[in-house]
Amino acid sequence: MSNNGTKIELPASIVIRDLAQIIEKSPIDLIKKLMTNGVMATINQTVDFDTAAIVVAEYGFEAVAEIVEEEVKEEVGEVPLWRQMIAGEDKSQLKARPPVVTILGHVDHGKTSLLDAIRSTDVAAGEAGGITQHIGAYQVEMKGRLISFLDTPGHAAFTQMRARGAQGADIVILVVAADDGVMPQTREAIAHAKAARVPIVVALNKVDKPNANPDRVKQQLAEMELVPDDWGGNTMVVPVSAKLKKGIDDLLEGVLLVADSNDIKANPAGKVIGTVIEAELDKSKGVLATLLVQNGTLEAGDVVVAGTAYGKLRAINDFKGKPIKKAGPSTPVAVMGLSDVPSAGDLFEVVKSEKEARVIVTERLDALKVQAQSRKKVSLEDLFANVQAGEAKELNLIVKADVQGSLDPIVTELNKLGEGEIGLNILHAETGNIGNNDVMLASASKAIIIGFNVQADVDARRMAEKEGVDIRLYEIIYRMTEDIEKALNGMLEPKLVEKVLGKAQVLQVFSASKFGKVAGCKVTDGELRRGAKVRLYRSSDIIYEGDLSSLRHEKDDVKEIRQGYECGVGFKSFNNIEPGDTLVCYIVE
Ligand code: GDP
Repeated sequence: MSNNGTKIELPASIVIRDLAQIIEKSPIDLIKKLMTNGVMATINQTVDFDTAAIVVAEYGFEAVAEIVEEEVKEEVGEVPLWRQMIAGEDKSQLKARPPVVTILGHVDHGKTSLLDAIRSTDVAAGEAGGITQHIGAYQVEMKGRLISFLDTPGHAAFTQMRARGAQGADIVILVVAADDGVMPQTREAIAHAKAARVPIVVALNKVDKPNANPDRVKQQLAEMELVPDDWGGNTMVVPVSAKLKKGIDDLLEGVLLVADSNDIKANPAGKVIGTVIEAELDKSKGVLATLLVQNGTLEAGDVVVAGTAYGKLRAINDFKGKPIKKAGPSTPVAVMGLSDVPSAGDLFEVVKSEKEARVIVTERLDALKVQAQSRKKVSLEDLFANVQAGEAKELNLIVKADVQGSLDPIVTELNKLGEGEIGLNILHAETGNIGNNDVMLASASKAIIIGFNVQADVDARRMAEKEGVDIRLYEIIYRMTEDIEKALNGMLEPKLVEKVLGKAQVLQVFSASKFGKVAGCKVTDGELRRGAKVRLYRSSDIIYEGDLSSLRHEKDDVKEIRQGYECGVGFKSFNNIEPGDTLVCYIVE
């Protein structure tokens, strides 16, 4: 054959029309070839690679699969700013600092229990008569060395930190229950840690349970490229029981070992920077913020800028609530004196004066305004447009309700609504007010927050405004479902219905200089209309689909022509017409 073995690249699937173009054959010819191979397809239909390969082989081509660049699956986050800043410090000034650890894992695998167990084994905390104030972070001592724990377990906090590009942890303790194994949130946690380039120590929890199966968990971990050290890999897997407080020391020693091999350093005399762990507005005390110092030494009286908040620190307390004068790298502290509530995950820095702080904050606020204007809002109202623009196929929701008793029916109702063409995806459903975490999660996942009989916290509302997150509060369930339903209906792509106007038979084919070939037809049914759509059949096969671009009766251009009349029909850039073809004229509504 003429194309003897010429290689052509074809994608996994291709429309007949495009395939015809590639091999420079007429689509009709191609359709016929397909038919002889037992494949019925019209010009606008798609065939898969294998089918395309067979048919192009008949023309002497050899089909080869188009190489599509593989998607990079593993997301690698940016190096957090504070790490970059430490990297920029004078190497000779760098000193070892306590590792900062965060605990992640699937729900009910024992994160909270483990945090409590770790805290209670610490002598120093015990001596102080227990923790007086919960500030979202604490430190424990192990063999004379400190370890800082971020006491904000769960994904929202972690996502939030990452979303801010300021992931503050040096090490992740991944809690996996020995009786349950690797679960979806375990996988997510691994992905998060990998993206943030943070090493993982596995706490194989609940080993006290009779149905604990450590080997199975190790197998699962190995499958996720976390090969346990006792299997020759380099992931520490430490069996623990948070409930019986067993194995905690081993776990902490493991953390220190990982810390030692990861060069965890900072310059205590360098520029003071760190991350906001949490912050809230206290009615009597003003803004209370927990800060994690990451470089330099924070001192009482310093002027701090945190996100778009600033202020002179009136007091610094350690995690036990004891006033301190100075806090070096990796120290969590509770501070007062900020003008505004910063967001968790915001980077903070010490500046020279309040004047300098104001300039920085003003600039940031201006930049945020510009950002907010350009950012696409995810609101219920906008969803339809997003769907039409092909930017959304489902509606992500975060649901908050006052009590579990109302949360359950809401979720059930919403799930029912999501059974249609546009899916409803409930990312998170929980009781309680709408907080910053919810907003961050919504922002990161383009979700809408639905609140039922709850309020949005002041700073959550502010952040929602900043991030362009839609918060909708309801007090009556059907009002809520009604709204969602409306949005979903609006979101549905308009259903296109074909309405046949008429049919005609091709009696003769003429050549007309203007249109190329013109079909001399007789209308057998209904009417033909200029500008409508037309489909040309040869026996039962569609050989052309397109616009009916010219319609003439005798020598006159006409808009339409009725049953029983004869007419001349021209198609845009299509000439392969034969007597005996049938023509169906239709419109799409
Ligand atoms: P989280 O959702 O990951 O924070 O899990 P929790 O710490 O709330 O623990 C979930 C459940 O597992 C609770 O009922 C705990 O008492 C129980 N649990 C946690 N650790 C252990 C453990 O080591 N052994 C046993 N038997 N139960 C545990």
